[in-house]
Amino acid sequence: MAHARTRKPSVLIIGTGFGGIGMAIKLRQAGFTDLTLLEKAGGVGGTWRDNTYPPGAACDVQSHLYSYSFEPKHDWSRKFGAQPEILEYMEACVRKYQLEPHIQFNQAVTSATFDDHSNQWRVVTETGDTFSADVLITATGQLNRPAMPNIPGGLETFRGGACFHSARWQHHTELRNKRVAVIGTGASAIQFVPEITPLVGQLELYQRSAAWVLPKPDRPFHQFEQALFKKLPLWDRLYRGGLIYWKNESRALAFTRFSWILDLFAHQARKEARRWVTDPDKLHHLIPDYRIGCKRILISNDWYRAVNQPPHVNLLTDGIARIDETGIVSETGEHRPADIIIFGTGFRASEFLSPIHIAGREGLTLNDAWTNGSKAFKGISVSGFPPNLFMLYGPNTNLAHNSILFMLESQYRYVLSALDALSRYPPGAAMDVREDRQSRYCQVVQRGLEGSVWDAGCSSWYLDEHGRNTVNWPGFTFSYRFATRSVDTADYQFLDPVNA
Ligand code: NAP
Repeated sequence: MAHARTRKPSVLIIGTGFGGIGMAIKLRQAGFTDLTLLEKAGGVGGTWRDNTYPPGAACDVQSHLYSYSFEPKHDWSRKFGAQPEILEYMEACVRKYQLEPHIQFNQAVTSATFDDHSNQWRVVTETGDTFSADVLITATGQLNRPAMPNIPGGLETFRGGACFHSARWQHHTELRNKRVAVIGTGASAIQFVPEITPLVGQLELYQRSAAWVLPKPDRPFHQFEQALFKKLPLWDRLYRGGLIYWKNESRALAFTRFSWILDLFAHQARKEARRWVTDPDKLHHLIPDYRIGCKRILISNDWYRAVNQPPHVNLLTDGIARIDETGIVSETGEHRPADIIIFGTGFRASEFLSPIHIAGREGLTLNDAWTNGSKAFKGISVSGFPPNLFMLYGPNTNLAHNSILFMLESQYRYVLSALDALSRYPPGAAMDVREDRQSRYCQVVQRGLEGSVWDAGCSSWYLDEHGRNTVNWPGFTFSYRFATRSVDTADYQFLDPVNA
C-alpha cells in the first residue's frame, strides 16, 4: 500500500463496438493515457459495422436508450434507429472523443497471455504483432461470430450464385428475379426478408422454429420533437431515463417471475398473425409451439405480410436434410433449386471469447476454466487465472427486456473502480477475483434464472451446450447497476509481481 503507483496502468481493449468505444471514452476521461484498442476489422462499430443487410437492419431497442447516457443524440430520425444511423453515431463518438490515435485496425487478436513474473498481458494478433499492457479489457460482444449450421453437403457443395450469412451480406449479389433460399427465421431474418421479397423471383423460407413477433411501435421523429429534445436536454433525459427505461424495465418481471404476463403478448402476436396471414397453412406454422419469451421476442410490422405473399414466398418447415450443388433437399426428400442461399442462422453467442486463446496464471486457459460452462464474477472478472482481465458484456449480462448499453455503462463504472483499487497497490500489482466469491455469485445468478421463461424448455442461443443459461441477466438492470456500483476489494486478491 505504501508504494502506490505513480502512473496509471496501461490498458488494452479488444474490440471497438459499443463496449470498447464507451470504455475507452470513460478511461480517457479518467486520465488513462496509455490506452490501445485492437480492432480485427478496418472500421469501428462491431455488430453495427457487420450487419449491413439491405435496408432493414435496425435496433429493437429505442435509440434514445440505445446510445450512451453521457453522449445523448437529440436528433435520432426515428424511435428505433436503423443500422446506418447507429453506426454513424458510434463513429461520431470516436471522432468527438479523439479515440482514433488509440485504435489499431486490422489486428485480430489470436492470443493473450498473462506473464506471472511481470504481471503484464502479452497480446498477439494475426499479423504477428505483439502488444503488452497491465490491464486487458475484452469488448468483443456476443454477436460477432456468425453461426453457420452444420448441414450435410454444406457450403462447399453448393455451386449456385452465392451463399452467405446475413452478417456478411454480399451487396454485389443480384437478388432480382432469383430463386433465393433463406435458412432461419430469427431476429435478422425477420428484418431482411420483408426487404428482399419484392425483389426476388422465388423465396424459399426454411423455418425450424417459429418466432413470436409483436408489432414494432416505431415511427419517425418530427422535426419539432427533435428540436425539443435539443432545446430541452432535461426533457431528453426524462424521455430516455424516465419513460423508455422504466417502460422496458417493467418487463423484467414478466421474463423472470410472472411469465403469465407474457401470455397477454402472445395473444397480441397471434392476433397480429391472423390479421395479416391469409393462408391457413402458413398461419398454423407461424404460431410458435413454445412459451412466448423463451426465445427472444421479435418486433416487426412487415414480417407476417412478407411471409403471407403468395405465390412466390414459400414457408418450409419440413427440415433440411442436405445442401447439394443446385439447392436444398428437405428431410422429406424434396429437392428445391436455389440460385442463392442466405443464412439467417444467428451467432455463436454463448462461446464468448473462445477464438482468442487466453492464458492466465500458470498457463491455465480460459477454455480450460470454462469446460463446464462460462462463469464470471458480475459477468466481468474470472477467477483463478487471468488477473487484470475485465470482460465487457460477459456471461449472464445479456438482456431480453432493456438496453445493453445500460449494462455496459454499469460495467465501465465497475472497471474504473477496480483500476482505482489497483492503483493503490505498487506498480506491477495484479488483482484476481477470489474463487469462493465468484462461485457464490454464480450460484445466486443461476438460482435467479430458475423458473424464468428462458427455462421453459425451448432451445435458444441463451443456453450453452450443457443447457445452462450463461447469457442472460436474471433481473432488473438497476439491480445489476447496484451490484456493480463499485469494487469491494475483499472480493479480490492482490498479487505482487514475482520480480518486484
Ligand atoms: P437467431 O435469433 O439466433 O436466429 C437464428 C435462426 O436460425 C433461428 O430461426 C434458428 O432456428 C435458425 N437456425 C439456426 N440453425 C439452423 C439450422 N441448422 N437449420 C434451420 N434453421 C436454423 O439469430 P439472429 O436472427 O441473427 O439474431 C441473433 C440475435 O442478434 C438476436 O436475438 C438479437 O439479440 C440480435 N439481433 C438484434 C437485432 C436488433 O434488432 N437489435 C437484429 C438482428 C439481430 P431455431 O430458433 O429453431 O434455433
